[in-house]
Amino acid sequence: MMTSSWLDLRSDTVTLPSAAMRKAMYEAEVGDDVYGDDPSVNRLQDYAAELFGYEAALFAASGTQSNLIALMAHCGRGDEYLVGQEAHTYRYEGGGAAVLGSIQPQPLNNQADGSIALADITANIKPLDNHFARTRLLALENTIGGRVLPLAYTAEATALAHACGLATHLDGARICNAAVKLGVPLREVVRGFDSVSVCLSKGLGAPVGSVLLGSRALIEQATRWRKVLGGGMRQAGILAAAGQYALEHNVARLAEDHAHAALLADGLAELPGLKLSQPQTNILYVDMAPEACAGLAAALAQAQVRASVAPHMRIVTHLNVSRADIERVLAVFRSVFAA
Ligand SMILES: *Cc1c(COP(=O)(O)O)cnc(C)c1O
Repeated sequence: MMTSSWLDLRSDTVTLPSAAMRKAMYEAEVGDDVYGDDPSVNRLQDYAAELFGYEAALFAASGTQSNLIALMAHCGRGDEYLVGQEAHTYRYEGGGAAVLGSIQPQPLNNQADGSIALADITANIKPLDNHFARTRLLALENTIGGRVLPLAYTAEATALAHACGLATHLDGARICNAAVKLGVPLREVVRGFDSVSVCLSKGLGAPVGSVLLGSRALIEQATRWRKVLGGGMRQAGILAAAGQYALEHNVARLAEDHAHAALLADGLAELPGLKLSQPQTNILYVDMAPEACAGLAAALAQAQVRASVAPHMRIVTHLNVSRADIERVLAVFRSVFAA
């Protein structure tokens, strides 16, 4: 029922809840979370706040929702946030901050390593003047396109933002991948950020949910915006229990996903017609000629591998991808690209 012989490399959002996670969901104690009565939601929020070193946390339906809640808690109508051109909160969330929050993004170029140059941050903070939107927030993303922001960079960027009177938000959809890659505790990779959004439904393997972390005052604001956005859920403990299980059991094992991505990259690098750089975490990008795509797509489908085949192809490893699966994928690529 849960498993099929299809392997899915499109994203780490395709992970399926394990039997043990489903058991935790089945057994979860629940209540009405809009009244603050759901013990499993409260437990997850307390656990996440402690784990990441924040005063408080809020369970949200999705990463998009928890990012939007954070932007709306930090910024008001006519304010703006500085954000990377490649960032999810700018590019891939339907313009939600502008549509629903009356908040203007100021997109800035991402450097090759995913960072935003400090000089670009400084140069784009608007003076207080009726002509300008009020610059209120710096939003960064880690990991970004599978790349890990260096700790020294996030320390400098957040210190700069604070010195200029801005708040700081981290889209940490895959922050656990960053912490595991750097080999540092979770509270270390989020240091300097006033708020962080963490996805439970990606490599961590929960079916639904994100947590937003911040000060008690910020989370109070955030709870109001979550309700306004239609994100107040009732017996949500069934979902929170999956997130709790994910944080307790599925963080350290992300190292396996990184190893699998590296193994795949090593094998692909040997093949003519493919170009790639070594992945840092669980996401790798493979470049190929546009003419090669149709043949590869057909061969992958034949081998029951789902993938987003494109000239700049993204491949994502996750907890439902085994070492044997990597071998199977390499065999398909070899059959298409071997000289
Ligand atoms: C997936 C993702 C999100 C949020 O995604 P949802 O599908 O809404 O949970 C936010 N930021 C990044 C970087 C992501 O990869």
